[in-house]
Amino acid sequence: MNRNRLSSVDQADESLLKCLQRFQTLAQANTSKSNENGSKVTKLVTGRQKMYVLQSVRDGGNFWRTRQMSTNSKIEWTDTTWNPVRGCTKISAGCKHCYAETFAERFRGVPGNPFEYGFDLRLVPHKLPEPFQWTKPQMVFVNSMSDLFHEDVPDDYIVQVTQVMTTANWHIYQVLTKRADRLRDLLQTKLRFAANLEHIWWGTSVENKKSGVPRIKQLRDAKAKMNFLSIEPLLEDLGKLNLKGMQWVIVGGESGNGARPMQGEWVTSIREQCIYQNVPFFFKQWGGVRKARYGRELDGRTYDEYPTVNRQPIPPLAVRRDLEARLMLPRDSRSTVAAIA
Ligand code: SF4
Repeated sequence: MNRNRLSSVDQADESLLKCLQRFQTLAQANTSKSNENGSKVTKLVTGRQKMYVLQSVRDGGNFWRTRQMSTNSKIEWTDTTWNPVRGCTKISAGCKHCYAETFAERFRGVPGNPFEYGFDLRLVPHKLPEPFQWTKPQMVFVNSMSDLFHEDVPDDYIVQVTQVMTTANWHIYQVLTKRADRLRDLLQTKLRFAANLEHIWWGTSVENKKSGVPRIKQLRDAKAKMNFLSIEPLLEDLGKLNLKGMQWVIVGGESGNGARPMQGEWVTSIREQCIYQNVPFFFKQWGGVRKARYGRELDGRTYDEYPTVNRQPIPPLAVRRDLEARLMLPRDSRSTVAAIA
């Protein structure tokens, strides 16, 4: 599976054409240019959504290709983010330059801003229904601005978040934590109902040997169906890794001010181990103070591998509303709640 997958249709596919026309109508920005093949590439933007349309003419007929890019996340391995929790506290070396903290603290004290409380841990219950409201299936990074398994997030709240993921099963959820011990404990008990689902991917961060590598075993011991490692920021050579039970590995260097350098051999060692142990490998970035400068090619190519899973079709709006209503999630409150267990 690749989120940059291309779907192509001939002029017979009216539904896609209608969809494109509707998107064009809604678009607030619409820029076109020709690519090297002479095809016209149009970038349409509506709010936070972007769609790239590649249009060419074949045999006098219309031939459309759409390329659906990341909808609201710049993170290379996901489509969007969902944050029913905000804020966190640092736990290990990988947290040193936490981007979420830097971002959140900019808005501390700004009334009405989602990060009015900076990086203090807050539950955000009004975000719980969001996956039912999105109009297309997405890969969703759960809690990009927090850690769902933080010790101050109550068990019951984690269960509620997981019930949403279990019910809205047309999305793929990527749940990433540095608290793999708590993830393991809950997946064996209160979250057991979600452990064997293919559309919920449970992941842990691995930045070094001391704190990161032990999390791999904790994740494996959770005995979930889909497990992944985010080896970012990679801070040292991790040596030999046991990837048994892992379905996906992401590797990346640190970016931004003060970024700690990552050596190529550390990355290629992990790539080779993924190949040997048959685990899809995704190389996110080299990182650095100016990450765009170094890009994301490794030995002359990009690595954008994902696990292959079966996707559920998205149900009609009425069905989604009904499913959401049955969970009795909060809809009206815009307030956040201090997360003290
Ligand atoms: S666990 Fe993640 S969100 Fe929390 S401080 Fe560390 S890097 Fe930031």
